[in-house]
Amino acid sequence: MNKSSAAIRRAFHEFFAERGHEIVPSASLVPANDPTLLFTNAGMVPFKDVFLGREQRPYNRAVSAQRCVRAGGKHNDLENVGYTARHHTFFEMLGNFSFGDYFKRDAIRHAWAFLTETLELPAERLWVTVYADDDEAAGIWLDEIGVDPARFVRISSSDNFWSMGDTGPCGPCSEIFYDHGPEVPGGPPGSPDEDGDRYVEIWNLVFMQYDRGANGALSPLPKPSIDTGMGLERMAAVAQGVTNNYDIDLFRRLVDAAAGLVGTDDRASSSLRVIADHIRACSFLVVDGVLPSNEGRGYVLRRIIRRAVRHGYKLGVSDPFFWRLVEPLVGEMGEAYPELAEHQALVERVLRLEEERFRETLEQGLRLLETDLKDLEGDTVPGETVFKLYDTFGFPVDLTADVAREQGLHLDMEGFEAAMTAQRERARAASVFRAEYGGAADFGGTTEFSGHAVYEDAAEVIGLYRD
Ligand code: ATP
Ligand code: MG
Ligand code: MG
Ligand code: MG
Repeated sequence: MNKSSAAIRRAFHEFFAERGHEIVPSASLVPANDPTLLFTNAGMVPFKDVFLGREQRPYNRAVSAQRCVRAGGKHNDLENVGYTARHHTFFEMLGNFSFGDYFKRDAIRHAWAFLTETLELPAERLWVTVYADDDEAAGIWLDEIGVDPARFVRISSSDNFWSMGDTGPCGPCSEIFYDHGPEVPGGPPGSPDEDGDRYVEIWNLVFMQYDRGANGALSPLPKPSIDTGMGLERMAAVAQGVTNNYDIDLFRRLVDAAAGLVGTDDRASSSLRVIADHIRACSFLVVDGVLPSNEGRGYVLRRIIRRAVRHGYKLGVSDPFFWRLVEPLVGEMGEAYPELAEHQALVERVLRLEEERFRETLEQGLRLLETDLKDLEGDTVPGETVFKLYDTFGFPVDLTADVAREQGLHLDMEGFEAAMTAQRERARAASVFRAEYGGAADFGGTTEFSGHAVYEDAAEVIGLYRD
């Protein structure tokens, strides 16, 4: 078959539709009715209430390609981006689901058939893990599928017990890894150097059996169910014979576009990869109604934008550039996600404004950091510096940490917290003063909005954001 990202997405849908699964479109990155969750971080999120038995659907098998963001909350991969070959802040998770219908046996058989028959991956490259005491899953893999015990591992850590968040549906899981071969550093699952990029986790089959309550206790779900998640970008890398996600079709073109804009030829630059990653997260977050702000989801978006802008600056860009990547992104993903194409102009404006705003202080902030680091003894950036950058120059802490990490430094977070607390005390004293003397009242800003109707007047949205 054709091995493009789009073809893999399509083949996945078709494979499961032929096996009785309803094709369900991707839901928003902002979870509906779930204040416990920052962003949709897995394909199962829109089905959470179905697993819990609170919501009925006219089908009991589903397949989806769900857009996900892991840049905050329980699953946070922001720090990995630019450093591993396989983590993104935004990615697509392909998944098949059974709501009280089939369980372990069919989940395993379907996954194996899709990988070895549809995608024609060689079985010798695939490794399988199960939760340590899950003899049932082990038996299916070893005795029925015939996986070589040399590439089969029982894992007792939380890696093989999947949870969406601190509460909600969860259960033991079985994961499938692909071995990219000895040229890539890293050890097999369960080994001390498993964090490398050689053995890449491609698919997680979760055997949903429990609901974790607020007190941490597990109670059985009404019906055992299946939730699986496969990273489309990782699968595309495997299918396309490349060992780095940023070398797949979709990312290669985004990285090329970024390289053209910033004027570099170094396609392997990690800054370019960070930028190519972040344009997807930022664009889709805006499409889903998140706007840059100083709190909650909006602050996560702001942090990602500022990080991307800083990497552009590092590569020597002087004019706002980030927003210009929206167009090539629409070219790559607008067909699969028409809402992206539809809101292109809005996304461009939001990103451009945020970049223009931050550029005013970015350079000054970096200069201050350089000065403060010149006489530094040891490898810790003082909390006062981190705070000054945050408070005066709008540097999110993770951005400062990103710069520091490039120089082998880390941040004095305790010192930062102390400076923050002192600042809060000062602000409190000042606000008493304001109240007493009739100064301007404080009012909370709007961090996000929902419903596409709002987009009808983009100018209004921008006005809202500008305040
Ligand atoms: P990893 O151990 O590699 O961080 P994970 O165990 O956190 O992955 P799961 O929560 O099991 O990932 O998600 C299911 C699948 O989604 C993974 O097997 C992988 O293919 C994909 N995936 C997870 N996180 C990312 C990410 N940050 N970027 C791209 N794909 C991802
Ligand atoms: Mg992870
Ligand atoms: Mg994992
Ligand atoms: Mg996993």
